[in-house]
Order: sequence, then C-alpha cells, then structure tokens
Amino acid sequence: MIIAIDGPAGSGKSTTSRAVAGRLGYVYLDTGAMYRAIALAFIRRGEDALPGAADSVLPTIRLDLESGPEGVRVWLGEEDVTGLLRTAEVTRMSSRVSAIPSVRRFLVAEQRRIVDRQAARGRGVVVEGRDIGTVVFPDAGLKIFLTAAPEVRAGRRAAEMRLGGQQADDAAVQEDLKKRDRDDSSRAVSPLIPAGDAVTLDTSGLSFEEQVELIVGLARERGI
Ligand code: C5P
Repeated sequence: MIIAIDGPAGSGKSTTSRAVAGRLGYVYLDTGAMYRAIALAFIRRGEDALPGAADSVLPTIRLDLESGPEGVRVWLGEEDVTGLLRTAEVTRMSSRVSAIPSVRRFLVAEQRRIVDRQAARGRGVVVEGRDIGTVVFPDAGLKIFLTAAPEVRAGRRAAEMRLGGQQADDAAVQEDLKKRDRDDSSRAVSPLIPAGDAVTLDTSGLSFEEQVELIVGLARERGI
C-alpha cells in the first residue's frame, strides 16, 4: 500500500510523512533527498544543471537510501552524504536538476524499484515529494497534497535551518521558497500540482499532531 504526500517546500511534508509512516508501521521514502543527492553529485563534478551533463553524471551514480526513526540516510556510492544535503547551495541545485527529464526518469525508476522491494516484503510505504501522486504512483491508495500560506512555510523553514545551526533570515527564506515554488510549479516535466484525486490539506492553522491525526484518520477510513 502506498500513501503519496506531495506539496511545496515548507508545507510540513517531511516531518508529517515520517510521523504518519511511524504510526502506521510503514517505510518512509523522502524523494527530495534523492534529488538533493543528485544535485550534490553535479556540484562535486563542477557541472551545471544541463541535460548533457546529466548524461555523463547519472551513469556514475550509485544511490542508496535507508529509512530509520531519525529519517532517511542517503549514500552516494560508499559515502554517507546525509549531512551534506541541506545547504542552500544543494537546495538551489536540487530544484534545477529536478527539471532535467533524464534525472527525473532515473529517479522515478529508482523510487518504483524501492517501493516494489518493500511491497514484496508486504510493507507499505509513505512516499513524499512533488510528483508522487501525479506521476510516480498514480494508483496510490491515498494521496495528500499538503500546503500552507507562504509566510507560514517560510517561518517553519527558517526555524528548521536555525535548529540545524544555519543562519536564516525569514524574508530571504521566503524569497527562496517562492522562487523554488515558481520553478517547481512551472517546469515542463512533472510540475508540482495536486493529483485530481488528492486530498488537499492546508496546514497553516493546524498543529503538527493535528496534521498527522488527519492523515492517519484518512488512511484508516480507506482501510490502510
Ligand atoms: O523536498 P525537498 O525540498 O527536499 O526537495 C528538493 C527539491 O527536489 C525540490 O525543490 C524539487 O525541485 C525537487 N523534487 C522534485 N520532485 C520530487 C521531490 C523533490 O522535483 N518528487
């Protein structure tokens, strides 16, 4: 069984998806972390986010993910790169590489392979991203589109960055989020849009517990 949770940056997707997976005993898959790992590989190779560069970078990539209670750990080859994926540079680059069709094809295939492997073991997966309900798993048993007012999302993201020891100015973070939203929503391939059959949840006025409770409730209603 698959629960797809899509939405813009700062909508609370990651923390919510992780908690929902924990409550239901599901595996959690953070597809944003996969785009971030590819972005890091581009940066390290000194490549710009261009389709031609993807053709030379992608064949060299071996990506591994491990889902645990603390979140997802990501390996590029033998190296655990989890701690390197949240910098402003990687964040910006991830949005740019995610518009390259061959990068999306590569990661969508990986995402389906990971979920198939879990399904073969009888395990459900909560998959978080931008195109999960629309493109990657259009048959997901439950699709959620999480959203929140831009200032709420920017405030959450800035708080998260401060917690991680980074400096964050609310106005600058909001500008950055707006640009990413614009790019993610207007790109030609797999733009960020709610699936026709997704339940849209505006989390602006909800507490974290309320968000999780609502989604777990919807899952139970559907017999998940
Ligand atoms: O969710 P997160 O902020 O980690 O995602 C980083 C970037 O990866 C997003 O801005 C988006 O451009 C891209 N992404 C995507 N499709 C997904 C997940 C993430 O295009 N399924």
